[in-house]
Amino acid sequence: MTRDYYEILGVPRSASAEELKKAYRRLAMKYHPDRNPGDKEAEERFKEAKQAYEVLSDPSRRRMYDQHGHAAFEGGFGGAGPGFADVGDIFGDIFGDIFGGGRSRAQPRRGSDLRYVVELDLEEAVFGVEKRIEVPTLVACETCHGSGSEDGKTQTCGTCRGHGRVRIQQGIFSVQQTCPHCSGSGRVVTRPCSTCRGEGRVETRRKLAVKIPAGVDRGDRIRLAGEGAAGPGGAPPGDLYVEIDVREHPIFHRDGDDLYCELPIRFSQAALGAELHVPTLDGEAILRIPPETQTGRVFRLRGKGVKSVRSQAPGDLLCKVVVETPVNLTRRQRELLEEFEATFEGTAERHSPRASSWLDGVRAFWERMTS
Ligand SMILES: [Zn+2]
Ligand SMILES: [Zn+2]
Repeated sequence: MTRDYYEILGVPRSASAEELKKAYRRLAMKYHPDRNPGDKEAEERFKEAKQAYEVLSDPSRRRMYDQHGHAAFEGGFGGAGPGFADVGDIFGDIFGDIFGGGRSRAQPRRGSDLRYVVELDLEEAVFGVEKRIEVPTLVACETCHGSGSEDGKTQTCGTCRGHGRVRIQQGIFSVQQTCPHCSGSGRVVTRPCSTCRGEGRVETRRKLAVKIPAGVDRGDRIRLAGEGAAGPGGAPPGDLYVEIDVREHPIFHRDGDDLYCELPIRFSQAALGAELHVPTLDGEAILRIPPETQTGRVFRLRGKGVKSVRSQAPGDLLCKVVVETPVNLTRRQRELLEEFEATFEGTAERHSPRASSWLDGVRAFWERMTS
């Protein structure tokens, strides 16, 4: 039993077109399969909302629904059925911003554009990879080869009497719009294909191998022209946008072409200087840090960053030295450190530039307070 369309969208029967659109957008965003992979309940809610919106957003179909309920779209009123038609439009709205353009309204019957987020490791993003993905989509129905017709025969559309356009009343104006029943062609199939219910396309999960070029970064998009959902009644397909996401790396943080990492070192290494082995994306590098290196100092390894898809030369690797206090000291180490500490008696400021400038500040502060 199909639920009431107004109830599905959670709007009153008097809802305006704008309210309907808002309600549908909210539900579509919430239950979109991309956001709820594998969630059957969400998928069902998504379909339900889509079906409801598709009917209620069309003034003539909404009128029919108000008068006859679900019976309006069963049998007599045409086989297209409230499947997938026309919802691409609203996704143009939602995802248009993300895609920087979205699809053109001049071809409203083209299949929908699809978005698929692929998650990569940093190494995959940097060096490129081929990813196998499975995209929920619509493909041309094999039974009717996308025509939507059982026997290949068509007849004049009853809704527009073959004109391809219908007049609808909007307030005091009467405006023409493309016939929603025949999508403007003026003809409908005589016997709808039973596999696709006349839609000309069926839902499926399409397997694709996507070549991800070296140097992509989080937020980059790859457009695969014509790999989107099939259009209704054999109309051309939309495009597929593969959007890149990159997992956090345990060592490196990427910012544009540069990589950042932290290098923990002992305070004795920092004081004496050291030769450090630094991991890079193409093997190990040697970093010589000078004696008396302070914690937090950043060393730049040129060309050890990322060569992005857009850049000519690779960025740098920036290593931040972090001085770590040794733990689990042996008796011997403790003795040496106690002896070492004793050597600072009376000369501490000479060896600790940061501490002495801090102490100067403290002294000045006390003087102000007590004067
Ligand atoms: Zn078919
Ligand atoms: Zn028509």
